[in-house]
Amino acid sequence: MSNSILVFVEQREGTILPASLQLFTLAQQLATEQGGQVCALVVGARIGELASDCAALGPKRLLVADAPPFRYYSPRAYTQAICDAAATVGAQTVLLATTALGRDVGPRVAAKLGGALATDCTSVSSHNGSLRIQRPSYCGKCIAELELPADGLRVLSVRPNTFAAPEPDAAPAAEVEPLAVDIDAIGSRATTLEVVKSDSMHKDVSEVDIIVSGGRSVGSEEDFSILYDLAEVLDGAVGASRAAVDAGQQPRDRQIGLTGKVVSPRLYIACGIDGAIQHLAGMRGSRVIVAINTKADAPIFSAATYGCVVDLFELVPLLAAECKRLLAADS
Ligand SMILES: Cc1cc2nc3c(=O)[nH]c(=O)nc-3n(C[C@H](O)[C@H](O)[C@H](O)COP(=O)(O)OP(=O)(O)OC[C@H]3O[C@@H](n4cnc5c(N)ncnc54)[C@H](O)[C@@H]3O)c2cc1C
Repeated sequence: MSNSILVFVEQREGTILPASLQLFTLAQQLATEQGGQVCALVVGARIGELASDCAALGPKRLLVADAPPFRYYSPRAYTQAICDAAATVGAQTVLLATTALGRDVGPRVAAKLGGALATDCTSVSSHNGSLRIQRPSYCGKCIAELELPADGLRVLSVRPNTFAAPEPDAAPAAEVEPLAVDIDAIGSRATTLEVVKSDSMHKDVSEVDIIVSGGRSVGSEEDFSILYDLAEVLDGAVGASRAAVDAGQQPRDRQIGLTGKVVSPRLYIACGIDGAIQHLAGMRGSRVIVAINTKADAPIFSAATYGCVVDLFELVPLLAAECKRLLAADS
């Protein structure tokens, strides 16, 4: 094993997730602090076009695995690809984004390679070859500090938006290398035959920089339209509390929180959300939180960067209209 840093680049339908691009900033930081070269792995189908996007972020080696078993996400196939890539480049550190896929595959890679694992990292620094990690714990109520030893493999999943993505380089350093994956080692306990996409035309909360989220007090699916209007102007997505989802106001895939999705956008606008600990667990890592609530002592205000004690039905349409006006004036 050498001390290379392997970035696992996650893509969906031919588009690299921003959270994966951000990993290159951490990878370069570790390469500067601890030595070693930054390498990258892209897995999936139709990924040829993605290679130049990755190469522009400066990896010294860019591995691509695009055999049929990687067409759809498969825990065993992806684990095998990452393990084979780690062996190929002599990785000491493997970086993944804390996405649904990263949460699933990261522990498998660490277990298979007998490495140390730290998930959902929000801070990483080097100390005499070891890594000091911070990660939120107990629904974000406290921060855990971990130290991963200088020797042995380390697998880190990093919370999206912890780092800004580096600027692409006009002169990419790496040639694309096809990765020879040990397909026989994958086995075939289960095969994904088809993935049926939800018919929603709206963006997914885990893929955007801005989320407009609504609670039970929005009232109905129709009333959520004012949140969709604001989200559309801001090029964001609509999220919801569990109470709103349980009441049938929004589909389950929009739920944010302990039993929903964990998000960390640049801006989270919580409209009529009380701020229960289970909801905060899913959005506390957002960079800026704006809370709109009629109850001045609602718990959401303690997590908010800006608080507006006002009726959401008054403020949200005004915000949408003002943003529209500003954007029109800008163009
Ligand atoms: C095991 C477990 C897991 C859970 N997982 C999750 C989870 O993943 N996500 C999640 O969200 N919850 C989760 N919950 C539920 C959580 O405890 C809360 O019940 C839920 O988050 C409350 O949703 P809410 O804030 O929309 O509703 P409420 O608690 O009913 O709050 C509504 C808020 O809207 C405000 N309001 C009312 N009218 C207006 C208005 N016109 N304008 C502005 N503000 C207004 C009120 O002041 C209030 O603060 C979980 C609970 C348990 C036990």
